[in-house]
Amino acid sequence: MQYIDTHAHFDLCMEEGVGTESDLMAGLASSGVTHAVHVSIDAAGFSWAHDFALRHRQQGILFTLGIHPSSPAGKKELDDIDRYTEMVMNSDEAALLFGIGETGLDYYRMHRPKDEQQNSFEHQIHLAQKYHLPLIVHSRDATEDSLTIMKKYAPLHGIMHCFSEGAGYAKKFLDLGMYLSFAGNVTYKAAIKLQESAAYAPADRLLLETDAPFLSPIPLRGKKNKPEFVIHTYRYLAHLRKVEEQELTNQIHKNFLSLIRETLHQNPRRLT
Ligand SMILES: [Zn+2]
Repeated sequence: MQYIDTHAHFDLCMEEGVGTESDLMAGLASSGVTHAVHVSIDAAGFSWAHDFALRHRQQGILFTLGIHPSSPAGKKELDDIDRYTEMVMNSDEAALLFGIGETGLDYYRMHRPKDEQQNSFEHQIHLAQKYHLPLIVHSRDATEDSLTIMKKYAPLHGIMHCFSEGAGYAKKFLDLGMYLSFAGNVTYKAAIKLQESAAYAPADRLLLETDAPFLSPIPLRGKKNKPEFVIHTYRYLAHLRKVEEQELTNQIHKNFLSLIRETLHQNPRRLT
């Protein structure tokens, strides 16, 4: 099997004591996880993310550049992300940059004012479109505002990360061109509407992730999460969708590659 974790925070996993860098890498290899995307959440993490992907490019590690809606996003941070993205995209390592994000809106935590979150989100949508990179969206308790902003820029190429809405909203985000990525919380007993979305999503627009160190899937709920645990979410989803695990794994592998390829013709540098 070739599993993919489309969304993990390796730096936070280490800070949380989940394991050392080499533990986490060894866990991926022994579990059959052939690709994982390290997602950055603030400008301070950009160079670590970049170096981490460089260190482990042979193990299928890619990285993103993004400012999470809970992270500061003033002029300085927005300039930083522009500058860093330009630098990477003009380098030989452009292919390691998977996308822009995670960005979006988080009205649940509300660590930053709404207008700052919205401005940062639109800035990062522009940036993703400028370089034809997938956009990784975090939306929590802000579905309507996320949709309103995203509609302005449709069609979009990217991922609704840790998708947590029902099938009605799933359709709306799919219509904008987005892929839906499900995290470990889809395995939780109470997650009925989320399971409804995961059963409803078209096979060719589906991705899976851990969001490690958060949201460990059953049967590891309560433990801190790590990228190799994504295999449990695959198992659960295969069962939910009534397909063989091998079929699901192949399909998600294809989806992951086509999400990258959809933007390649616009941006041949990513082939290097
Ligand atoms: Zn995340």
